[in-house]
Amino acid sequence: MTMTPDSSLLDLARALDAADPLRAHLDAFAEAPGVTAYLDGNSLGRPLRDVPEKIAAFVRDDWGTRLIRSWDEQWMALPMELGDRIGRVALGAAPGQTVVADSTSVLIYKLMRAAASADPDRTELVIEAGNFPTDRFLAEGVAAETGMTLRWIEPDPVHGVTVADVEAVVSARTALVSLSHVDYRSGALADMPGITATVREAGALMMWDLCHSAGVVPMQLDEWGVDMAVGCTYKYLNGGPGSPAFAYLRHGLQGVLRQPIQGWWSAADIFAMGPEYVPSGDIRQLLSGTPPVTSMLAMQGMLDLIEHSTIEGVRVKSQSLTDLAVRAYDEVLAPLGVRLLSPRDAELRGGHVTIGHPDFRDVTRRLWADGIIPDFRFPDGIRLGLSPLSTSHVETITGVLAVRDALESGDF
Ligand SMILES: *Cc1c(COP(=O)(O)O)cnc(C)c1O
Repeated sequence: MTMTPDSSLLDLARALDAADPLRAHLDAFAEAPGVTAYLDGNSLGRPLRDVPEKIAAFVRDDWGTRLIRSWDEQWMALPMELGDRIGRVALGAAPGQTVVADSTSVLIYKLMRAAASADPDRTELVIEAGNFPTDRFLAEGVAAETGMTLRWIEPDPVHGVTVADVEAVVSARTALVSLSHVDYRSGALADMPGITATVREAGALMMWDLCHSAGVVPMQLDEWGVDMAVGCTYKYLNGGPGSPAFAYLRHGLQGVLRQPIQGWWSAADIFAMGPEYVPSGDIRQLLSGTPPVTSMLAMQGMLDLIEHSTIEGVRVKSQSLTDLAVRAYDEVLAPLGVRLLSPRDAELRGGHVTIGHPDFRDVTRRLWADGIIPDFRFPDGIRLGLSPLSTSHVETITGVLAVRDALESGDF
C-alpha cells in the first residue's frame, strides 16, 4: 500500500536537516532516553540541557545566599523584564506592555473582565465555538457575572475564523472579541491584522490567545493595533510544566481598564501599605500577588535561543517541518484513510499538523509505549506538534512512519 519507499522520505528529511541553519540548536535540548520522536512540543516544550544547572545555581546563590535581598536586587522587576523580553523576541511589542504572571486562564479572566466593564453601552462578548475550553468557560463565567451576552462564531473546523466571520457578528454592542491566533486543534492561523482592524473599526476591543503561536509564529502586536493578548510559556517557550503565562495590554489602555484581582502587586505603590487601593497606571496593574520566580527560570534560555535564531528564522523552519509532515501524510497516511485536519497552505498554518482516523486513540497509546510521542485530541485526532528548535525533519518522518506502521499492521 505504501506508495513511496520510506528511504526516500527519510533521505529527504536528512537533506533538509543538513541544510537547516538552526540544526545546531537541536543539541541544546536535554536528551530523553527512550524517546525517538517527540511530537508534542506544542503542549509541553522540552527542557534545555542547562536548566538543571541553572535551577541549582538559583537555589544556591540567588535564593540560598542572597535570600530576601534578591527581591530588591532582581525579582521585583522580573515579571516586567521578562514580559519585555517576550514582547521583543516573540510578539512585536515595545517595552512596558507585557508582564509574566499567573496562568493563561487567570490572565484571560482578568482581561476579559476588565474589557466587559469598559463601556456600559457595549454588552456583548464575541467568542468562538471551537476555541480552547478554558477560553470559552471563562467567557461564560464573565457573562454570568456581568450580564453580558455571548455571541458565538462557528468557524470552519479546518480553516478557522475569518474576517468575514467576525464582520458578521461585531456591532456597536460588542465590548470584546476574543479569539486564538493559532487554533489548538487544526493549527489554522487567523488573520490577526485583518481581524483586529475589523474589530477596532467597530469600536470594540480585541484580545488574542497566543498559546499556540507565541515562540513559533511571528506577529506585530503594536503595529497591528492589538488591544490585549495572553499566552502560555510552557508550550513553544519551553518554560516547563505550569510556568506562568504572559499578558499584553497596549499602552493606551493601561490605567484605563481595571482588572478585577486587585492584589497588592497591582497597586500604584506596592510598599505604601496604604488604607485603600490605588491601581498602578502601568503594566504592573495586571499583576495580583507575589510572582512565581522559580517557574520563570527555564524559559529564559529558550528566549535567548529564539532571539538568536530570530522568530522569522524559527517560522521558516516551522513551515519546513509542517510542509514535510503534510507531504509524508499525502504519501503514506492518506492511502490508509487518514484525514488531514489542518490547512494545506503553510502560510495559513501554525506550528502543528493534525490528522484524523477512528483508531488514533489506540494508535497513540501504542506509539507512546514505543517512545514516539504525538498528542491525541478527542475524538480521533493526532496532533504532530513540531517545535522548530528542538525537532528535526528526521524525527518528524520517524513519527509519521510510526503512525503508518501501526495502522498498517493493526498492532495497537
Ligand atoms: C494551552 C492553552 C491554554 C492553557 O491555559 P492554562 O491556564 O495554562 O491551563 C489556554 N488557551 C489555549 C488556546 C491553549 O492552547
